[in-house]
Amino acid sequence: MNIHILLGPPGSGKGTQAKRLIGNFPLLHLSTGDILRDAVSKGTVLGQKVKTTMAEGKLVDDNTINGLVFDRLKGETQDVLFDGYPRTLQQAEALQVFIAQEGHQLGRVVNVEVPQEVLESRVVGRRVCSNAACGAIFHLETKPSQVSGVCDLCGSPLKHRSDDTSESFKQRMNEFNATFLPLLSFYKTSPGFVPFNGNRNSEDVFQSLLTLFTETH
Ligand code: AMP
Repeated sequence: MNIHILLGPPGSGKGTQAKRLIGNFPLLHLSTGDILRDAVSKGTVLGQKVKTTMAEGKLVDDNTINGLVFDRLKGETQDVLFDGYPRTLQQAEALQVFIAQEGHQLGRVVNVEVPQEVLESRVVGRRVCSNAACGAIFHLETKPSQVSGVCDLCGSPLKHRSDDTSESFKQRMNEFNATFLPLLSFYKTSPGFVPFNGNRNSEDVFQSLLTLFTETH
């Protein structure tokens, strides 16, 4: 199994692009953020444990996240596209051990780069479908839904993620900046590492990713 990773700050478009890419390639999209949000909305034990941490824009502890991911991957045969994982050096090291133990391969590590000043407006204006099975992502200004507050794809209400406020965004950027450089150093020498310009319109970004993953598959 090949394991691909989308790296990038909150608002870099990882989630939007991952959701589009899986329509074109036989990839399993694993977003730790989506899995955790689903757990919070269902009120599971995991959800109750991480609810406050997430709402404050802080990172959930590495052991919880690694356990969640490795459980999810057990028995999986399809190639995987990670979005939002790994987020810390400890998670990257644990994933590396898991990959070696299970006989998987690290594929593309795409570092989606977007200047910090662009990110906040992307995040604060983001609206997401409340139906977890759909999860479509819109933006009040750059990608509004056809009917205000209603998902174009499945008709469910759109919602503003509780951690997409300006205050929570700042905390998430602090977390990102504190953990990202060691993560980048860890992956920079991987053969599959690709620096990637994410500061373009969504369609251009998608076309470049399509080309990249077409070369990979
Ligand atoms: P995201 O949707 O990727 O922006 O994640 C939303 C929130 O979920 C983050 O702000 C963290 O609280 C939590 N989270 C998601 N993925 C991870 C991870 N790999 N490590 C730690 N916390 C995470």
